[in-house]
Formats: sequence, structure tokens, C-alpha cells
Amino acid sequence: MSETITNNKETRGFQSEVKQLLNLMIHSLYSNKEIFLRELISNASDAADKLRFQALSQPELYQGDADLAVRLSFDKEAKTLTISDNGIGMSRDSVIDNLGTIAKSGTKEFFSKLSDDQVKDSQLIGQFGVGFYSAFIVADAVTVRTRDANLSADEGVLWHSQGEGEYTLETIHKENRGTDIILHLREEGEEFLSEWRLKELVSKYSDHIGIPVYIQTAKTDEEGKETGETEWEKVNKAEALWTQPKSEISEEEYKAFYKHVSHDFADPLVWSHNKVEGKNDYTSLLYIPSKAPWDMMNRDHKSGLKLYVQRVFIMDDASQFMPSYLRFVRGLIDSNDLPLNVSREILQDNKVTQSLRSACTKRVLSMLERMSSDEEKYQTFWKEFGLVMKEGPAEDFSNREKIAGLLRFASTHTDSSEQNVALKAYVERMKEGQDKIYYLTADSYAAAKNSPHLEQFKSKGIEVILMYDRIDEWLMNYLTEFDGKQFQSITKAGLDLSQFENEAEKEKHKETEEAFKTVVERTQSYLGDRVKEVRTTFKLASTPAVVVTDDYEIGTQMAKLLEAAGQAAPEVKYILELNPEHDLVKKMADEPDEEQFGRWVEILLGQAMLAERGSMEDPAQFLSAVNRLLTKVQ
Ligand code: ADP
Repeated sequence: MSETITNNKETRGFQSEVKQLLNLMIHSLYSNKEIFLRELISNASDAADKLRFQALSQPELYQGDADLAVRLSFDKEAKTLTISDNGIGMSRDSVIDNLGTIAKSGTKEFFSKLSDDQVKDSQLIGQFGVGFYSAFIVADAVTVRTRDANLSADEGVLWHSQGEGEYTLETIHKENRGTDIILHLREEGEEFLSEWRLKELVSKYSDHIGIPVYIQTAKTDEEGKETGETEWEKVNKAEALWTQPKSEISEEEYKAFYKHVSHDFADPLVWSHNKVEGKNDYTSLLYIPSKAPWDMMNRDHKSGLKLYVQRVFIMDDASQFMPSYLRFVRGLIDSNDLPLNVSREILQDNKVTQSLRSACTKRVLSMLERMSSDEEKYQTFWKEFGLVMKEGPAEDFSNREKIAGLLRFASTHTDSSEQNVALKAYVERMKEGQDKIYYLTADSYAAAKNSPHLEQFKSKGIEVILMYDRIDEWLMNYLTEFDGKQFQSITKAGLDLSQFENEAEKEKHKETEEAFKTVVERTQSYLGDRVKEVRTTFKLASTPAVVVTDDYEIGTQMAKLLEAAGQAAPEVKYILELNPEHDLVKKMADEPDEEQFGRWVEILLGQAMLAERGSMEDPAQFLSAVNRLLTKVQ
């Protein structure tokens, strides 16, 4: 990648995704340009956290807390704004990794899917997280001077870029460890060359980060005249937000702090801040974002809370404190019980971790439960994170009922694809005598909604939950009951609606079934072992036949899921159900010629398979049966 090297100076090209990210950032955030400051101060504060952490094992790295700070200074003439920290700093290699590439896999795919309009959509950047590159919203060139805390003064690095395609790197002498970010402001960025404006922004966004932020201000004499000298003025509270009492923290402060920990651009939906003493001694501050990160479904998506021990930052992405189905939760946990030298390995099988994880999980679930009383807000949440929540019942046995209560589905009650029906609401609407929760899984909402299996339910006014996400069939392996009511798939053989029939109907069905017995037998003997069984059904109205599967056999959607995942799915053995009251079936029943009868069977089975699977095994055989039958029709 390197093009020219002179005296260690080299010019490098940005990874193409960085160029796209810069583009997206500048387009979507120009009306919110001030957030660059929050992002750069956040990075500086993270760098201080990392230094403090390293100093636990290398005490020579720094001498006490008072030392760590962020300093802002500006030069009106040169039109530069500098954000300096004395944190961990970066080596040449980490500068290349951090300020020239985006390490997350899948980024390329993400960008390649964006349309021009999407690039202008400011919400998108929220999915991505903002960060260092936001400097280019206000600057047409950025210089970074940095020195890794473990390296000597002669191993400093100078990075410079105009945010277009390239950046340059040089080795420099830098007296102090840490990083200076120097923004060469564009015209639209000149408003930030103001003490007043910077102070306003720091108190808006960075009041509650753990280290002080200073601004270089002009010294004045007694009469208020500038003396030509400068001094450093501390402008934030510099007390970590979560260590403050809840009653003293405003909503705005919670929101600002969320943006600091998450690099998210949007406000969080809700949060929960708890200080716990007793068996475990810890503070947690947990946020539910309003937007899913773009890579939430990727296997290597980094999730988890920030871990602090006794207010010292230990690690990012401590995924041990949240189950995977709550991987969207952001925030932090500050434990007084874990040792300061805790590592990911130690966290893995640690009693404290387990008990914090269980407490945090419960806290998030109750936070969601509370939020669900505001339906509109909950829908925002569900649209973003519903798919992940559906992993819950499989992963978290002990909270299964609670999670089930938080799930939302489409149903025949609402006649809309929107997933906004809670199981509790379903149960409340259950008909007299109904003891099961009926559901149907299909490829799409349209397929579910128009499924022939629903006919009887519609005519009897029984609500059916319509599931059409790919994960649903798998979810239903783990979700067997809710509120003491069992789930029943309406495409399974065990479906029994006789409780909704009166005596007269039951008697009539019995008679019809008896009379229809020979047709069933003829069909069975024609099909042989192509089907598991043939039988009569009374659950249909305008459909002549459907196929169902045995209760304990793999269903159609599950088989498709396995096939799509490249796994060998066992062959689904269907049961063919005939509707004896349908005209076509009656016609078939009257057919004396066995060959012609066979064609009828082919057509009914073919149709039923098509409705169930969206495909049939042997379309040619089906078409030939249709054609032969049609040629006989006068
Ligand atoms: P994020 O902070 O979300 O990881 P950024 O683009 O803001 O993304 O920063 C990328 C990386 O660059 C950071 O993770 C950090 O390793 C490094 N970095 C940025 N700013 C600083 C800084 N002031 N000091 C040390 N490292 C920094």
C-alpha cells in the first residue's frame, strides 16, 4: 500500500470503507457538526482509562490520577483547534490500524448495499457509531501527533490527512506520551474557535466523563483586560456519572453519557442505573439503544458492557455480563468485588461474574417490561431488536416466561404484518374452551395470512399467531408454553378443534368421515409411502386438501432452515388431509376409473404441497396429471 518512503515518511491510502464512512459522516452529520468534540473527548478519555489500566501492572507509567486530563486549545489565526490527552497514545502500527482502516468485518458489504439516498440518511450513521473520523465534519485537514506510553520520545508518530483518499505518516519527536488531535477547521467549523462555544459543548456532552477537561483561556487582569497570557480552566465536573446519586443526574446527562460510552449518535430509548450493596457490591448503568448496530447479526459482532473495577476501567466489550440475546445493551458495570487484575479468562468461570450477569439480565428484562407499557416506544425497540430477543427462550431457560412475555408477533387479530401482539393479549382474547395458543409459521407474512390452514380458525373466530421470521420455527422448539397454555402449530397433525364443535356437528362429521373412508383408502393405496398417512379433515372451507406434519416430526419451515444452513434435513413425511365437503374432492370421490382417480390425487397433493412448501417435488408429474385430467373434461 505504501507509495513513498522518505525518512520514514510515507503516504498511505485509506481502506476504501474509510472513504465511504467519511463520506457518509460528512453528508449525514453536517447539521450536527458539534458532535465531533464529544467523540474526540470520548476517545481521549478512553485513552486515559486505558493508561490507568496498564499502570496497574506498570506503576511507572503514571503518577496518580490528577495527572490525567484532556486539554482543549485553539488558535484563531491559524484556525486550528487542538484536543490533547496524556493517555495511552498510539504506536505507528496502531495508528495505521486505527486511523486508516475499519477493522470490523462485513463493513465492505454494509457499504456496498447503501444507495445514494441512504448515504444522506443521518440515521444510518447511528447504526455505525461515530468516532474519530467525525473530525472531518468540521476540519478539512487533521493532524494527529501521538506517542505510545510504552515508547520513547523519538518514537512519536505524526499522522496527517485531508480526509480524501490518503494520509501521511512520519516519525517525530514527542516529549509527552498521549495524543494531540489538531483540527484545521473549515469555514463552517470556525464557530468552534470560541471559548464560550467550547465550554458550552463540554458541559453539554462531556460533563460526566471521569477525567477533567481543561480549556486554554486568555488571562485577564482586574479590569477584565486580556494580559496576553493564558491559563487552563477546568470546565467539566470530571466525576464519573455512574458514581453520582441518581437523584442528582438529569435525563440530559444520562443521554449525553450514553453517547460517550456508545459512540451512538441517537438518544437511547431507556436506561437503568443501580447501585447495589450486599452480597455483591457494584453499580450498573444499562442502556437500551434506539437503533441496532448494522452488524448486530454478524458472528463477530462485539458486544458487552464496559467493565470497571473500583472505578478503574478494565475492559471494553465484557460480553460475560450479558447473555447473547441481550447483546444490544450498552453501558457499564463497576464492581467492587472483582480483583483489579481480572482478565477475560478469569471472568469466564467466576462466581461474581455469574451473579452479576444474572442480576443485569433481570434488570434489563424488567426495564423492557416497563417500557412495553408504552406501545409506540416498545415497537421502536421491537423493530430493531425483536429478532435478537427471539434467541432468548433458547438461550436463557430460567427467564423463559419473562422473555416470552416480551415477544411480539403478528396475528390474525390485527390483520397487519406488524409484530405488535403480546402473548398476554392473545391469552386474554382466547375463546371459551380454548386451552392452546395457536400459531402458524410461514416464509412470509403473505404466505401465513393466506394459508389454507387458517380457514376454520377464521370461521370460528379463533385468533392465530402468524410467524414469518426465519428464526420463528426454531424459537418454537424452545417456547412450549406461556401462562400455562401450550403452543399448538396449526400445521401439525395433533391439531384438534373438536372442542369448538357442538354435538350435532360432531355427529355429522363422524358420519361424513365414515362415508368417506373408502376414498381415503383408495388415495392411500395410490400414494403408497409417498405420504405418511391420508385422512379426512373438517378444518378447511374453500381448500380441497392440505398437508400437515406429525407433532414430533420436523416441520416444513425447520427443514427449509436446515437446508439453507447447508445441513442435511431429514425428509419431511407429510400427512395428506382431504376436505370431504369440497366440490373437487367430491368429484374425485365419484371417479370410478382408478387411473383418473390417481390424477385427481396427484393434483390435490401437488396443490397442498405447493401451498405448504412453495414448491413441489415433481412438477412435471403434477402438470401431466393436470393435463390428462383436463383433456377428459367435456
Ligand atoms: P472507536 O473509538 O469506536 O473504536 P474511533 O474511530 O473513534 O473508533 O477510534 C479508533 C481507535 O483509534 C480507537 O479504538 C483507539 O484505539 C484509537 N484512538 C482514537 N483516539 C485515540 C486517542 N486519543 N488516544 C489513543 N488512541 C486513540
